[in-house]
Amino acid sequence: MVSAHIRPDLDAIPAYIAGRSHPDLVKLASNETTFPPLPSVAKAIAEAAELVNRYPDNAALELRSAIAEFHGVAVENVAAGCGSVALCQELVQITCLAPTDEVVFAWRSFEAYPIVTQVAGATAVRVPLDHDFAHDLDALAAAITPNTRVVFVCNPNNPTGTAHGTAELIRFVDSVPANVLVVLDEAYYEYMRLDDQPNGVEIGRTRPNVLVLRTFSKAYGLAGLRVGYAVGDPDVVTALMKVHIPFSVNRVAQAAAIASLDARHELLERTNAVVAERNRMRDALVAAGYRVADSQANFLWLPLGDRSGEYGQASAEAGVLVRPYGDDGVRITAGDPHENDLFLSFATDPATVARFLG
Ligand code: PMP
Repeated sequence: MVSAHIRPDLDAIPAYIAGRSHPDLVKLASNETTFPPLPSVAKAIAEAAELVNRYPDNAALELRSAIAEFHGVAVENVAAGCGSVALCQELVQITCLAPTDEVVFAWRSFEAYPIVTQVAGATAVRVPLDHDFAHDLDALAAAITPNTRVVFVCNPNNPTGTAHGTAELIRFVDSVPANVLVVLDEAYYEYMRLDDQPNGVEIGRTRPNVLVLRTFSKAYGLAGLRVGYAVGDPDVVTALMKVHIPFSVNRVAQAAAIASLDARHELLERTNAVVAERNRMRDALVAAGYRVADSQANFLWLPLGDRSGEYGQASAEAGVLVRPYGDDGVRITAGDPHENDLFLSFATDPATVARFLG
């Protein structure tokens, strides 16, 4: 039987690999929050569910207005997306048309960047992280050519957790030509605890080529509903709305995101517990002899090289799913204390240490 013609270049695109789940295992593989929705958010979800026979507001006006008010910007500066990953895709779609158009990003970084670039038929330019697993901002700037259309800067970086402060980011952004869009992907913004805490919305306020991505999936606990947003120049936002899949930010997601913004003080309070667990895990791992990247996110990165896959397997056998990345390293999400303890008892076991660090 002849099957339908599929673009042959898709063969070269790796499928997006999500963190594994297993009902009997602890999952520290997807950077989720373990806290359930707040009662006020669950109520908004239940109420919105009663209206799902109706399409949602395609312009997500109420949600975008609430986000605009939160950030002190105009509603024209805000786009909503079916998760911020959809906005990543849309950003490449609005900037790249020719195969020679380039999308620059660090590597390793968020694995959707190369995928959305290839799907758009553009060229991905990967710039290696520095020796501390952080963005090499000078190398990133040097990689920009007349063909560059977008630069993604993931701050904090997924999967290594490293983050740059305001001064470094501003120096980088100001070195980028004004016709190149700089996307500051701040999916893990709420977990940063830097003295020089960078806020992309502030950096972008006076720079029309800077756009910030935030999400309700992590600190706001709505990963299962799929809603994220962009704050940027109105012309960029208008273009995003042109390529947006109609109604892809659904009614329940819009209602839950609005309720979550209303409850933000309570939700952001929760990030302190996650940060405390992240730091506790890091200290225990360092004490056991691991090299651990300096994380400002809700996860940790162990650069275990070609032992990463084997380490992930051994951790799963000990009851905890973590996330190996090829021959680079393993990412472990900070979960509940008892889950983290289970991981630490595996990771710091002398047999594990001897096997993987010996
Ligand atoms: N950016 C980064 C850096 C991420 O790690 C993720 C989630 N893995 C996203 C964007 C997308 O998140 P969502 O689509 O759930 O908003």
